[in-house]
Amino acid sequence: SADKERANNVAKIKVVVRKRPLNRREIAKKEQDIITIEPNSNYLTVHETKLKVDLTEYVEKHEFVFDAVLDEDVSNDEVYFESVEPIVPLIFQKTKATCFAYGQTGKCLELIYLHICSGKTYTMQPLPLKASQDILRLVHQTYRNQGFQLFVSFFEIYGGKLFDLLNDRRKLCMREDGKQQVCIVGLQEYRVSNVETIKELFEKGNTTRSTGTTGVNEESSRSHAILQLCIKRSADGSESKPARLVGKLSFIDLAGSERGADTTDNDKQTRMEGAEINKSLLALKECIRALDNDQGHIPFRGSKLTEVLRDSFVGDSRTVMISCIAPSSGSCEHTLNTLRYADRVK
Ligand code: ADP
Ligand code: MG
Repeated sequence: SADKERANNVAKIKVVVRKRPLNRREIAKKEQDIITIEPNSNYLTVHETKLKVDLTEYVEKHEFVFDAVLDEDVSNDEVYFESVEPIVPLIFQKTKATCFAYGQTGKCLELIYLHICSGKTYTMQPLPLKASQDILRLVHQTYRNQGFQLFVSFFEIYGGKLFDLLNDRRKLCMREDGKQQVCIVGLQEYRVSNVETIKELFEKGNTTRSTGTTGVNEESSRSHAILQLCIKRSADGSESKPARLVGKLSFIDLAGSERGADTTDNDKQTRMEGAEINKSLLALKECIRALDNDQGHIPFRGSKLTEVLRDSFVGDSRTVMISCIAPSSGSCEHTLNTLRYADRVK
């Protein structure tokens, strides 16, 4: 059918890079914008300033090519259009899709908190709402009276443990059934039929999110927040029978990409979290690569995050990764790390 054909045309893995504008702090510090993007192209160049042995400066250029490269003037609507919009119809066809943003977060330097953010949360936050809008339109119009239902859940992984963001951060545990379906015991799932309710749930979840004690970021830079939109359908298409999962779309606002060893923080708890975050990113990359190579074995046990996403890596799956980068010279090393990570996933 036409739907099937469209599904096959959507890449299994899509890597999108988004550059944010220089912020006030960077402008005040007279930092340079070191990222250039050719308009309407899918490549970017990082201009890295280096020092020769005699201490004179020279610029080294690093070029990267991705599925899409979005400049600082690109709106959130356009980001949605480039990333998630094409996969929304697929989740009515049993696809499980994952969308996540990745990039640096504030780093702690000897009691001075530098807020070097790359725009992950700014990028991720509008996406589920836009996707829900499109999903509800499909439920109410295209697939009218066919028994499709939309469910929302929202939880976080913090220090390797799961907490329900729509139920007072209640601690959750995970179980796997025989059919590789992941079940998070006790997770609240809300059936939603209008955008207003979804909006309220997102806001509730975001305020419940753990803030940690590092003060590194106003938001929670040390937890992964996972928002899932599930499409279910009852066996005979009516509303009377219990609904079964059809497809799923997961949005992940990943913890920062800084390494545990990167912080000068001596607090053990903080270092442990840093290590866990690092492990998750590594494990995620390994899973995505295995997915891409159609390997039979997917190393999802590498972290809590990939265990939770396990059923999204098997069968008909799609992954969209949005790499968020800061434009400033001061973030050059982090930016190159982010782009190299993205490059290996691609
Ligand atoms: P992160 O989640 O990566 O730590 P945030 O998304 O919280 O970073 O962004 C930090 C700040 O920068 C926020 O105030 C946000 O509004 C702003 N910001 C981030 N990306 C953009 C962008 N593309 N355009 C405009 N402002 C942005
Ligand atoms: Mg954030």
